[in-house]
Amino acid sequence: MRTNQIGHVNVLWHSWHVPRFSFILWLASRGRLRTMDRIHHSSGAQQKCVLCDVHEESHNHLFFGCKLSAQIWLEVSARAQISWRQNSWPQAWSEFVESSRGQTKAKIKMRGLVLSATIYHIWRERNWRLHNQRFSCTKKIKEDIVNAIRERLRNLEERDGLGEDELRRWESFGWTGLMVGLAEPFSGPWASGAFFGASELLGLQFGLAGPL
Ligand SMILES: [Zn+2]
Repeated sequence: MRTNQIGHVNVLWHSWHVPRFSFILWLASRGRLRTMDRIHHSSGAQQKCVLCDVHEESHNHLFFGCKLSAQIWLEVSARAQISWRQNSWPQAWSEFVESSRGQTKAKIKMRGLVLSATIYHIWRERNWRLHNQRFSCTKKIKEDIVNAIRERLRNLEERDGLGEDELRRWESFGWTGLMVGLAEPFSGPWASGAFFGASELLGLQFGLAGPL
């Protein structure tokens, strides 16, 4: 079954959604998380992003512009075989909804689950670093995202036509080769590989973003 009517609600709140993931995605898509640019808006003080320690933290930077987030998106997108165009939240959100039109229910729900799980784990890592001085490497963050999606898929009451091949994509931790055979080409600022070496594109290396 396909749907021509899809909006934010369909992507956020559906029968596969994980409430805590969708809640953070909902806040993030509206710019309502307490990022440093919002906290220090009145004082003018700048606070660096704790994921890269280079740029000022904002919603757009944290989830789309940051090098660490870009690494995560690149490989999660490859596994999900989804094309992303993450330059800013408004653009990413409209692209995401637009690209879901005409897709099967299973694909729309999968996109929502992947998007929300990734946003949630990036935000969680940011909070752990900021408040708990707890750092995970990029590889660990990606594994946590894959684990979370796999666990959700294993416990679905209704698969809505989700194929075995799509389920198998979340069953292993091997990232090498995921870039091969993508259904859709990548787009966006890091699609050219400008931020990555060839080995990173193939998932052969995982740069440590901080102490383990
Ligand atoms: Zn950053």
